[in-house]
This record gives sequence, structure tokens and C-alpha cells, in this order.
Amino acid sequence: MTQHPVLVSSCLAGIPCRYNGKAKTDPAIAEAVARGEAIAACAEELGELPTPRPPAEIVGGDGNDVLEGHAAVIDINGEDISGQFVAGAQKVADIVQRRGITEAILQDRSPSCGCGTIYDGSHTGKLVAGDGVLAALLKRRGVNVSGSPAK
Ligand code: SF4
Repeated sequence: MTQHPVLVSSCLAGIPCRYNGKAKTDPAIAEAVARGEAIAACAEELGELPTPRPPAEIVGGDGNDVLEGHAAVIDINGEDISGQFVAGAQKVADIVQRRGITEAILQDRSPSCGCGTIYDGSHTGKLVAGDGVLAALLKRRGVNVSGSPAK
């Protein structure tokens, strides 16, 4: 048992919060949440985006660039939803700070949670190196962020 809980993406914990209204359950992560060893949060829902919602990707960079205003999160309809992504990531970062969390396990490739690899902004399934907005913000706050072990 870790001294502080680990932050996990809600969709990995079995919560149907993805853009398509589904979860991406990792049983080990769901069990860790049930035991109180992990805390689940969804940055996009905390940013007040609806579920389901149009899929979105980062255009012009990665989550760090979005945080600095040099790139944008654009949904498939062309709407700029960067503000909601940043607001949601900040809410998760506040939870992390309050709970003394130092480690996060996040859903791969998401424009919020992706760690090290994200979609390239073309909505064609192409991947590029980079972090999602939440992963980037948590790394800036000194959190050890890794991707989901389940594929
Ligand atoms: S923002 Fe993160 S937790 Fe929420 S649905 Fe996307 S990948 Fe899952």
C-alpha cells in the first residue's frame, strides 16, 4: 500500500466517461480504486464537457503547447475546446496537490491523459510524440506520470 493514493484516469477505472460514452476498464486499476489506493478523475468531464462528446485532438503541438497558448484542442466539428481542457486539467492538478499524490497512471493517446504519445490533430489515427494537456500539467507539477499498462 502506497503512502498516498495514485491518480488514475477515470475511464481506466471503469467509469464510462470517454468521448464515446464508454470506459476503457483496466481491472487492476478499478480494484485499486475500490480499495482506496487510487483516485479516479476525468479532466474532460471536470472541464464541463459533456459525455458523450465529439472526439478532439491537439492541433499544432502537444499539451505543453496548449498550456502555453501555442496550440489548440480542436474537436472533430472544428470547435476550439482548449479552455475546457485546461480548466479540467487544473481541477485534476488541484486534487493531486490536495491529496499529496506523486504518481499518476493515465489513459494512452488521449488529448488530455496521453503520456508520451498522442494523436497528431488530423483525426486520421496518426500518432506523434507528446503529452496530453493533463499529463503535461501534472509533469510540470512534479508528478511521475505513466501510461496505462493495459493495451
Ligand atoms: S480525459 Fe482522461 S479520464 Fe477522461 S475520458 Fe479522456 S482519457 Fe479517460
